[in-house]
Amino acid sequence: MGLLDITERLRAAERAAGRAPGSVTLIAVSKVQPMERVEAVLEAGHRIFGENYVQEAAGKWPALRDRFGPVAVHMIGPLQTKKAKLAVDLFDAIHTLDRPSLAQKLASLAQARGVCPDLFVQVNTGEEPQKAGVLPADLEGFLKDCRALDLSPAGLMCIPPEGEDSSPHFAMLARMAADHGLTGLSMGMSGDFEAAIAHGATHIRVGSAIFGARSYPV
Ligand SMILES: *Cc1c(COP(=O)(O)O)cnc(C)c1O
Repeated sequence: MGLLDITERLRAAERAAGRAPGSVTLIAVSKVQPMERVEAVLEAGHRIFGENYVQEAAGKWPALRDRFGPVAVHMIGPLQTKKAKLAVDLFDAIHTLDRPSLAQKLASLAQARGVCPDLFVQVNTGEEPQKAGVLPADLEGFLKDCRALDLSPAGLMCIPPEGEDSSPHFAMLARMAADHGLTGLSMGMSGDFEAAIAHGATHIRVGSAIFGARSYPV
């Protein structure tokens, strides 16, 4: 456990998959972690983090960026349209683009600002009714809508169903990305990031294996 251990396992998984060293980006998911754990990972030199809540991130990262310099922060939680403006001001990437209303909002913000965070389209690979994400059957149409709005998603993201083998979901996401000419694959968490790398993940989102268990489940 810990940043060093996870970094070593990440490098080993890259090697095992025949991937170039450094081809997988490690997003350290710091949501609801105590500040001293986040500071320790920053002090160790890590500069790419993930957050689930706009408000929490807005309260935390401006001050940390003042202290530690540039830090990339990725939004990996559900994003309400009314928080999109705050989100584009704060985040370098948004992994949870999942509906036309959010695409429209992000497109108009991008137009006004002239820049846009990197965007990943979340796909509900398990077709779970309670889970966010575009259904696999709707992905093609949604990507067309995004492109019509001048948004160019960098890739796809998924959260496989709890308690299921993640590998078929990773394989499905990789296939869908390839079918649509997308190179980014945001997949793999503490329990399954090595499998995700074997299936081509470019971004893994690892929280508890770096920071320790969260004090309350989210
Ligand atoms: C919390 C969270 C993670 C990190 O989960 P761990 O199991 O702690 O590694 C990754 N992705 C998303 C979308 C999350 O919400």
